[in-house]
Amino acid sequence: MGTGGARFVVARQFRASGGMWMRFGQTQIHVDPGPGALVRALSNVPPCNPRKLDAVLLSHKHLDHSNDVNVMIEAMTSGGFRRRGTLLAPADALEFEPVVLPYARKFLDRIEVLRERSGPYRVGDVEITTSVRHIHAVETYGTHFRSEEKTISYMPCGRYFEGLAQDYRAHDPDVLILNVLRFEDRMDVDHLTFAQARQVLAEVRPRVAVLQHFGTKMLEQDPQRLARSLEDELGLRTIAAEDGFILDVDAEVGAIAG
Ligand SMILES: [Zn+2]
Ligand SMILES: [Zn+2]
Repeated sequence: MGTGGARFVVARQFRASGGMWMRFGQTQIHVDPGPGALVRALSNVPPCNPRKLDAVLLSHKHLDHSNDVNVMIEAMTSGGFRRRGTLLAPADALEFEPVVLPYARKFLDRIEVLRERSGPYRVGDVEITTSVRHIHAVETYGTHFRSEEKTISYMPCGRYFEGLAQDYRAHDPDVLILNVLRFEDRMDVDHLTFAQARQVLAEVRPRVAVLQHFGTKMLEQDPQRLARSLEDELGLRTIAAEDGFILDVDAEVGAIAG
């Protein structure tokens, strides 16, 4: 539903910012519904139907990941008339300066407060576990989605630190989705740079890597070209996502397994 990150990219919608819509068999989970999530979901071909969603998950409460969370909860619950669905989010998205409105919470079946290295949280056919806490301005966790003997891991925004890659490697993900906001870090911010993403991929070695959540400088560098260079260098299938991109995990991982 969108591959943009950083305030400039999101504010100008150089890339959309609606997050990711995941399907595991019958189970559907919307991850990080940033600005435009509902509009992108409904205008997708074929449309992604919020009333079929089983859960909405926030990696953290920054606006580019959470802006449409209340809208999606309303849509998932048919405007609050059908109480259903699960919300998974860190405590600070719900408690201190919360982003989920109290009235919308009442529409949900269940709220799971994500903690560091916790779970599994069960949503339909999927088991979700969290990563080590990321170094980011607000409480942030990565997530591992385990279903039908495959693991899809999502590494959201955060600063590189010793131990980050090992924590993800322990889950041996088939697919690793990486938020690579910056090309180089000239301002010392809490985000991965392209060089650090390379380091993470070299350590985690997923079957398939997907880069997304690009800032301006990453877009200027041409993410497709960068992905190809990583693929050559590391010998790993590496994809730079574009808005509307669909990853067929079974096909992509199957092709690599031969
Ligand atoms: Zn972000
Ligand atoms: Zn953030």
